[in-house]
Amino acid sequence: MEFNQFDTNSLMYITNRPEIVFTEGDGMWLTDSTGKRYLDYLQGWAVNSFGHSPAIIQDAVTTQVKKLINPSPAFYNAPMIELASLLTHNSTFDRVFFANSGGEANEGAIKLARKWGQKHPNAKNEARYEIITFDHSFHGRTLATMSASGKEGWDKKFAPQVPGFPKAELNDLDSVKKLVNDRTVAVMLEPVQGEGGVIPASPEFLQALRKFTKDNNLLLIVDEVQTGMGRTGKLFAHQWAGIAPDIMTLAKGIGGGVPLAALLATEAVSVFEAGDQGGTFNGNPLCSAVGVAITKNLLQPGFLEQVQAMGNYLSEQLKALSKQFNLGEERGEGLLRALELGSDIGNNIVEVARDLEPIGLLVNAPRAHLLRFMPALNVTKEEIDTLIKMLAEVLTKIKK
Ligand SMILES: *Cc1c(COP(=O)(O)O)cnc(C)c1O
Repeated sequence: MEFNQFDTNSLMYITNRPEIVFTEGDGMWLTDSTGKRYLDYLQGWAVNSFGHSPAIIQDAVTTQVKKLINPSPAFYNAPMIELASLLTHNSTFDRVFFANSGGEANEGAIKLARKWGQKHPNAKNEARYEIITFDHSFHGRTLATMSASGKEGWDKKFAPQVPGFPKAELNDLDSVKKLVNDRTVAVMLEPVQGEGGVIPASPEFLQALRKFTKDNNLLLIVDEVQTGMGRTGKLFAHQWAGIAPDIMTLAKGIGGGVPLAALLATEAVSVFEAGDQGGTFNGNPLCSAVGVAITKNLLQPGFLEQVQAMGNYLSEQLKALSKQFNLGEERGEGLLRALELGSDIGNNIVEVARDLEPIGLLVNAPRAHLLRFMPALNVTKEEIDTLIKMLAEVLTKIKK
C-alpha cells in the first residue's frame, strides 16, 4: 500500500471506528485490507438492498455513466422520469421529489407540510406549522430533522432547536390528541422505529392515526427511509396497515448503496411553488438509474414474498438461539429484525463477532441490550445459518 492505512488523522473525528479498512464487497461479504472476510449483517446500514456491489448496480452505473452523469437539476432526464413513474405507479402517491439522503428528504417533507399549512391556515387565518413526532424516533441529522427526532439528549445538542416538533408516545393515540392545537399541521412517524431499536407501530395504531389525522385536517407523514423499498417484505411498510399517508420519504435501500432519496406526496399536498425546493444533485441521472434498477428488481414476481420468507426464517432461528442462550424477545418485520439480549452485552457481542477468526461477523447494537439485523434482501438460508452458528460461537465465548 502506498499510504499508511491507519494514519487517519486527516479525517474529522465523529465516532469511534475499529482499525479496519474495507477494500472489497460481494453480496453478504466484505473483505478488509489484510484479506480477512466478514459476513455483513449491517449492509451499509440497511442500505445495500441487493448486497455489496451487485451486478444490477454495476450494470446500471456503467451504462448510465457512459450516457449522461448530470445535466443539472434545471432540466428533465430520462432515469429521473422513469423512477418517479415507477414509484407513483406502485404506491398511493402522485408526485416525487428526489434528494440525496434521508435527512434531506425529511427536511423536504417538513417544508412541504409547513407550506401546505400556510395554504390551509387555522380559523384565525394563521399558518399551521407544528408537526407532532414521537419519542425514540429518528429522522436525520440536519437541524430540523434532529429537532423532529425523539432521541434522548438531542434537544440539548446544537441548541437552540428548530421549534415546532412536540413529541408523542408511539402506539398511544391519546398522547397525540393531547398535543394537537390550532397550529398543528401534521403527524410524522416511522412505521417501524429503526434506530430506536426496531419498535413497530401497530397496524391498529396506524389505522387510528390515519383516521384521526384525516378527520382533523392534519397530514400524515411516514418516514420510510429505513422501512421502505422492500425491507419489511412489502414495498412500503405502511402497506401492512393498509393506510394511505399524505407524504412519504425514502432513502437508504432505494439507492442500493449509492446516495439517493425521495419525497413522495399526494397531488393535493404537492404545493411547492417555483423556487421553494431544489438541490444541485437532486434527481441526477446516475443515481436515478440505479434507483430504477433496484426498484424493478424489487418488483420482480415473488421477490417480496421471498423477503417475507427469509424474514420468517431469520426470526425462527433467532428465537431458537434466544432460547438456547436464555436471551430475550425477538421482533421486527421482514428483514429488519432485532433480538433483546437480556443484559447490556450488545457492544461486547459486536466486538467479539468482528474479531472472530478466520472470518468475522458484522452486526449492530443500536442499544446496549439489543442486536439489530439488516441483511441484503436477497440473503440466503445458508447465510442465515452461518450467522446463527457464528452468534452461538460468540455467545459461548462471552458467557464463559
Ligand atoms: C437513516 C435514517 C434517516 C436519515 O437518513 P440519512 O440518509 O442518514 O440522512 C432518517 N430517517 C430514518 C427512519 C432513518 O433510518
